Amino acid sequence: AAKSTGRGKAMLFEPEMRADAQRRASMLNHARRATEERRIEPFYQPKVLLSTGELAGFEALLRWRDPHGVLQLPSAIQAAFDDPRFAVAMGQQMQERIISDMRQWLEAGLEFGHVAVNASAAEFRRGDFAERLLDQLRIAEVPTRYLEVEVTETVFVGRGSEVVEQALQTLSAKGVRIALDDFGTDYASLSHLKKFPVDVIKIDQSFVRDLTSNPDDAAILMAVLALGRSLGLTTVAEGIETAAQAGFLQAHGCNQGQGYLFGRPAPRDLTVDLISLWKPRL
Ligand code: C2E
Ligand code: MG
Ligand code: MG
Ligand code: MG
Repeated sequence: AAKSTGRGKAMLFEPEMRADAQRRASMLNHARRATEERRIEPFYQPKVLLSTGELAGFEALLRWRDPHGVLQLPSAIQAAFDDPRFAVAMGQQMQERIISDMRQWLEAGLEFGHVAVNASAAEFRRGDFAERLLDQLRIAEVPTRYLEVEVTETVFVGRGSEVVEQALQTLSAKGVRIALDDFGTDYASLSHLKKFPVDVIKIDQSFVRDLTSNPDDAAILMAVLALGRSLGLTTVAEGIETAAQAGFLQAHGCNQGQGYLFGRPAPRDLTVDLISLWKPRL
């Protein structure tokens, strides 16, 4: 856009563009080194059944340590999730660790429900994503029903969407559940729910945040819950921080909830305690 508005304007944007490029390069560099040095690990955040407060499962969220050992969020290496050179290696390391954790939990008789992993479009567009994941599960002897894969609607659009569709069909046919993450924020194209084998819709936290004060958000939530119900999908709301939000969602038939009210993302060792000591919390 800067180009078409003439030379002067383009010049004006240049320093800003250079800063962006530098930030991006720094993110990619951090992601590459963290992956190589195995400073990436999954944290687990509980998901509860809103009807009873029982543990439904967990979402695995990427955490990484910077070269000083300080724990960092995914947003600090955001650019790496969109670049296949980095996203694939990072994802594989996450999946390896998650499957190994599930293996140990199964051996210990811990009832963790399921683990949902996030996968980016860049990972999915690699033709072998589904096969690799299924191979890893098989080798670790973790039944596919323990795994859920979260994708955002961005994986459905643009180049490579046939590859994505094939991968989702393969996973789904083998019993891995597919969740549509951040539902309502990007395309919210209802045809995606028909075309792709989606089992779960995760309602984005932006609709949950002001749910009790913003009637529009409440209306959208109720409509999405009704849609999920009539399509036979499991509905999950993320970002639940207050009992009032949980109460509303429960009253309107949302199946599962996730958020600081129930638990923050935690490292594996704490998660083991959480699973064995879980008391219905509502
Ligand atoms: P997401 O998949 O939508 O994950 C939910 C985000 O909401 C997480 O942020 C989680 O920590 C945060 N959250 C959970 N409960 C609450 C709450 O009650 N209040 C608030 N304010 N936030 C809450 P996080 O861990 O920083 O992850 C951000 C995003 O990074 C994720 O959004 C996901 O898109 C991406 N991501 C995380 N791990 C992975 C991964 O292993 N692979 C890929 N491709 N993406 C990942
Ligand atoms: Mg997610
Ligand atoms: Mg989400
Ligand atoms: Mg989100």
